[in-house]
Amino acid sequence: MASVARSIRPWTTCLRQQASRRPHTSIRSFTRSATWQLHSKEMDEDMLSSLKVNQSRLMEDIHYTCQWGTGQRWGDKPTETGMSRLALSDADKEARDWFVETTKALGCHITVDSMGNIFAVRPGLRNDKPPTFIGSHLDTQPSGGRYDGILGVTAGVEVLRTLADNWVETEYPVGVVNWTNEEGARFPMSMVSSGVWAGSIPLETAHNLREVGPNSTATMASELARIGYLGGVPASHSHIPMGAHFELHIEQGPLLEMSNKKIGVVTGVQAYKWLTVTVKGRDTHTGTTDLKSRADALLAASKMILHSHRLASAHSALASTGILNLKPGSTNTVPGEVTFSLDIRAKSDDTVAKMKELVLSDFPAIAAGENINGIQDDCTPGLPCTVDIVEDFDSPATNFHPDCISVVAQAAHSVLGRDSHNLMMEMTSGAGHDSVYASKRCPTSMIFVPCREGVSHNPAEFCKEEDCALGAQVLLQSVVRFDRLRDMDRRSWRQEPYHL
Ligand SMILES: [Zn+2]
Repeated sequence: MASVARSIRPWTTCLRQQASRRPHTSIRSFTRSATWQLHSKEMDEDMLSSLKVNQSRLMEDIHYTCQWGTGQRWGDKPTETGMSRLALSDADKEARDWFVETTKALGCHITVDSMGNIFAVRPGLRNDKPPTFIGSHLDTQPSGGRYDGILGVTAGVEVLRTLADNWVETEYPVGVVNWTNEEGARFPMSMVSSGVWAGSIPLETAHNLREVGPNSTATMASELARIGYLGGVPASHSHIPMGAHFELHIEQGPLLEMSNKKIGVVTGVQAYKWLTVTVKGRDTHTGTTDLKSRADALLAASKMILHSHRLASAHSALASTGILNLKPGSTNTVPGEVTFSLDIRAKSDDTVAKMKELVLSDFPAIAAGENINGIQDDCTPGLPCTVDIVEDFDSPATNFHPDCISVVAQAAHSVLGRDSHNLMMEMTSGAGHDSVYASKRCPTSMIFVPCREGVSHNPAEFCKEEDCALGAQVLLQSVVRFDRLRDMDRRSWRQEPYHL
């Protein structure tokens, strides 16, 4: 068998010949064709590693679908543009139509649910059981790139194509899902449709989400209906159960590239909390009020933001302020009121909770003039300000399923070969993904590939062709390995929707 990987004969031929050489291997007729084919359970390691995705076909799919919603140009080559394909826009409809037509042509059954999520399912042997799914999203940020989400869906299609090319029959069906409005850019709730599917977000809330923009009356429901993707099947894990959910995604951060790794085995998604901090002081004239007599809300807020950075540094966490509003907003008035956002993230819920606790105790002390960690050094003591802190959003850490993590790691080892230990790493996702909601209802994991300088949500987002293909290859193997694992008697796999 070891010679198979080096063989120049087409894979299909190899498989058929191997199968015919092996008396213990049963051969079935494929349901869609009279051609002989091999079952996933009967493949050994050599056969598994010889099953190859087609890199140029994958890249063709990525770039072909990027004709819909092409964004800002960043280089000279035809493919060196970003993307601007907002959810449920005309461009999104075109990409969705391509996905439906392509997967139908590969023999998939298509289901569109009431959130416009599209589920394409390739039959297996046991079609009364939930499929093993690959999922991601075809929508983009208004000035996004060609890989965020798009790689995940097109790689799913490439997995289906590779299974079809090689007449691989799986025990369970294999599906690809395109989730609606993952970005939350047009309708302001990210991962909203996988959230509805998981039962975490009410359908009505999602349907009533209004398009961002001052004069728009469009809602998710009206736009789903307008482009013909308001499906009749309830968006729910109980109507469309999943045996598992795997997602290939660009890392959107610099860690893989910085450490010269090719594959990230994603074990979970970090926890985060969003706080709104309101600091109140007093509006006063900048020219007539000496430093001692000021209650400068912006100066106090600035010290708090700096302190949040120090706390994050001390706790291996992240703290970021992305929104800052000040009143009255005049050059010659000391601002009397400042509101700012504080986004706190860390691997564990405990760290995020600890950070919040410190913020709650330290920010009022800083506002009162206490010298926490030298924050007041070299400053003129002024009048105290008051602070009000509200928690707006809490997203606990997500831990992916150990079996899914394990098959991704096995697949990565197999694909990366002898040097695999140096080329892969376990990691936690810094960003949210549809896999977070999927993981609430079925075993889930993700695969990360490096993107240039960690840049994402930017037209110049870029992932090397060979890295896209490596990720797709790991995705393919993960799905086939999981298909085999599901059938093992040692595990009491729940064949109904899987509740963690
Ligand atoms: Zn994404």
